[in-house]
Amino acid sequence: MTSDQFRAYGKELIDWIADYWDGVDERPILPAVSPGQIRSMLPANAPETGETFDEIISDLDRIVMPGLTHWQSPGWFAYFPANASFPSILGELVSAGLGQQGMLWATSPATTEVESHVLDWLVDLLGLPTHWKTTDRGGGVIQMSASDSTHTALVVARQRSTAPASSLVAYTSSQAHSSVEKGARVAGFEHIRLVDVDSTFAMDVETLERVITADVAAGLTPAFVCSAVGTTGTTAIDDTRRIGEIARRHDMWHHVDAAYAGSAMICEEFRRYQPGLDLADSYTFNPHKWMFTNFDCSVFYVSDRKPLIETLSILPPYLQNAATDSGAVVDYRDWHVPLGRRFRALKLWFVLRHYGAEGIRSIIRKHVALARDLEGRIVSHPSLELVAPTPFALVSFAHTGGDDRTNELAGAINRTGHSYVTPSRIGDRAFIRVSIGQTHTEAEHVERLWATIAAYA
Ligand SMILES: *Cc1c(COP(=O)(O)O)cnc(C)c1O
Repeated sequence: MTSDQFRAYGKELIDWIADYWDGVDERPILPAVSPGQIRSMLPANAPETGETFDEIISDLDRIVMPGLTHWQSPGWFAYFPANASFPSILGELVSAGLGQQGMLWATSPATTEVESHVLDWLVDLLGLPTHWKTTDRGGGVIQMSASDSTHTALVVARQRSTAPASSLVAYTSSQAHSSVEKGARVAGFEHIRLVDVDSTFAMDVETLERVITADVAAGLTPAFVCSAVGTTGTTAIDDTRRIGEIARRHDMWHHVDAAYAGSAMICEEFRRYQPGLDLADSYTFNPHKWMFTNFDCSVFYVSDRKPLIETLSILPPYLQNAATDSGAVVDYRDWHVPLGRRFRALKLWFVLRHYGAEGIRSIIRKHVALARDLEGRIVSHPSLELVAPTPFALVSFAHTGGDDRTNELAGAINRTGHSYVTPSRIGDRAFIRVSIGQTHTEAEHVERLWATIAAYA
């Protein structure tokens, strides 16, 4: 492809993407395809000779589009958001356009320094402890996902412990994200405790203490505890301060998983939900959920980068260089499992600069206000009730007529095509999760959802 063709097709594809966003609200959110249908439209073999780019672009409409679930629809209320935005998409494009490999500072100084700097900005913007900055003793790194961040924290916790690996125990609540258990398994923990939760679905701290005491008495070594600020099920909030204090007492690594809710901390009023962070060893949140930055972009902070780097640093001769030897630079290959890394900070940098902190705050506050409004309608409705509090922008509710009625209601909402929610279960009860957070969700979209709820409830 010549650079002139690249210019022409690039502009055509930008138009194609803009058209997609302009029309996404008109598309049924769920695709009407059966398993294998998309593959059946693809040729059996890869092309032997090159095709025209016009053919390639037209197959986006013909083959890809029918098989998409429209996460960027403003009627997206399922799971958590994965809210992208135009500045983020442009940052992603520039990242691909520059083709950088930022494994070491020396292999792309700008990739490393923009990332360190933007993540230091976020420490201030989110009100996190200032010693988490790379200019102090901590630091942030962009990982692919919160699962990777949590896994990394578990590996460091295992490595820093002097007790036999087979005696180490990892703790989290029964409502924690599955990535904690998965990460513990991958990191080689043989003992994983899913601690019971209280009536708000937050970790029962007394139970945590009891389980730890029993483990210690049995000769095991508490090594890692993960608290959640905003569980995936219902955005329940663990007591980060008390769990941090317990972690200190037992010399455990305290990791905080704020994958979804961490973005809300850009608004001061939510910070009371994560007290005592100065007692945390690591923290993760996903700008790719609720900060208008397209997947993948998960931020991982450590309060002290030394144990992280000691755990993951291996320096073969072909990576040795003067900048690394000088100790004056960050080499991000030592901060996560992969070696190679792309320029992911660009899209986050573009987003922060395009919206400004005030712009981001105002959209997050709008989502939360829309959720509070929906919550109010549910509370006043005779046949609906909340199943969990609404600290952020996830509303968890059920039909008072029982599980069948709740599941029928979820089905009715999802059959509209314009709104999509997640039916789920907590304890022995069915409920509906309405997560408000797509970049372009406005009152009218929640109104349209409510009209369906009210008609079927
Ligand atoms: C979504 C979520 C995760 C997993 O995020 P990925 O980036 O997809 O790995 C982990 N923890 C919580 C609380 C989540 O909500």
